[in-house]
Amino acid sequence: MRIVFLAPPGAGKGTQGALIKQQYKINQLSTGDILREHKEKKTDLGKEARIYMDAGELVPDDIIISMLKEEIQKDSYSNGFLLDGFPRTIPQAEALDRIFNEFNLKIDAAILIEVPKHELISRLSARRTCRQCGASFHLIFNPPILPNICDLCGEALFQRPDDQKETILNRLKIYESTTRSLVDYYSQKGIVNRIDGIGEVADVFKRIKTVLESVKQN
Ligand code: AMP
Repeated sequence: MRIVFLAPPGAGKGTQGALIKQQYKINQLSTGDILREHKEKKTDLGKEARIYMDAGELVPDDIIISMLKEEIQKDSYSNGFLLDGFPRTIPQAEALDRIFNEFNLKIDAAILIEVPKHELISRLSARRTCRQCGASFHLIFNPPILPNICDLCGEALFQRPDDQKETILNRLKIYESTTRSLVDYYSQKGIVNRIDGIGEVADVFKRIKTVLESVKQN
């Protein structure tokens, strides 16, 4: 199965993506995670991307498209994949179509997780992330047992630079002005499935599973 995840920042792509990966044995391909790894390792790409990421801006299309094309050819995605955070612009969606044509692949579904803006702001500003294992916590709804320490690996938690208030507002503005147009793009192909992203993680996942089970049968 090859799935595109369309959702604003904070809608739960990372969390739900991990559950989909486990249930359907497909790999999650997160352009944000790959870029963060480059940033940590201070590669040339990481140094360039950092400027855009820390400001909540999109990394330019040509950089992200060639990174995606290289990544998607890895063996670990031969079973299918969940694209998390890509595409985010129409040129990226068009490039993805070209890449899929070249490799004779097809997108089975686009999943749109819908969450109101005020809820997204609350989720993102209270998010704390583990530098070591990437786990994320919410200070109020899913706090770590020990303050600022990851429950899973014991490392210190931190607030991502792009989870600070001003940057969050910028990311949401970019989502509305740029990424949202992808909903129309994929609606025209008849593959958009809208999911209510409010509620417990398990309930949201149940909604996604209902959609994916019907996709699997087609
Ligand atoms: P994410 O974790 O998906 O929210 O991504 C974190 C940041 O990485 C974004 O705010 C962008 O700066 C950058 N990024 C990730 N994916 C893309 C993409 N497809 N196009 C442009 N920038 C991206």
